[in-house]
Amino acid sequence: MKLDSLQSLFVEEIADLQDAEDQLISALPKMAGAANSPELRQAIEDHLEETKAQAERLKRVVEGLDTRVPSKTCAAMKGLIKEGEEIIKETGDPCVKDAALIAAAQRVEHYEIAAYGCARTFGELLGASSAVDLLQQSLNEEAAADKKLTSLAESLVNQEAASV
Ligand code: ZN
Ligand code: FE
Ligand code: FE
Ligand code: FE
Repeated sequence: MKLDSLQSLFVEEIADLQDAEDQLISALPKMAGAANSPELRQAIEDHLEETKAQAERLKRVVEGLDTRVPSKTCAAMKGLIKEGEEIIKETGDPCVKDAALIAAAQRVEHYEIAAYGCARTFGELLGASSAVDLLQQSLNEEAAADKKLTSLAESLVNQEAASV
């Protein structure tokens, strides 16, 4: 892709997010299945449902653009998911693995927060107000998911990992 205008960069960012969310829709069920704590499993399953809605929102963003959005691979999400898979394969204590899963999941959320924040801001500059609304909704969900993971870690999972 040629980054010759803010519009082309916006399209590129949307394409990257679409692939990132699609990768997560495949990866999150495995992450949820690997969680030992029922609360953590539930939190990941809840975020899987939100992730599906985020992918739908991105489709609506694309429909609102009059450009073709090419398919792109989000290399960063590939790597982040790979790190999650490494944790799943690791042997060890289930409580410690839960703390590791949260650390991996928060890396994913932080990446998404950065990506949605930048895309939203580009959309504002381009006057794409309906895209901005959709991106902001997903950004808020990503931030809430990150906060939920922090509170699970602090209230429960890290303590259990520390007492192994
Ligand atoms: Zn995402
Ligand atoms: Fe997401
Ligand atoms: Fe990416
Ligand atoms: Fe997320």
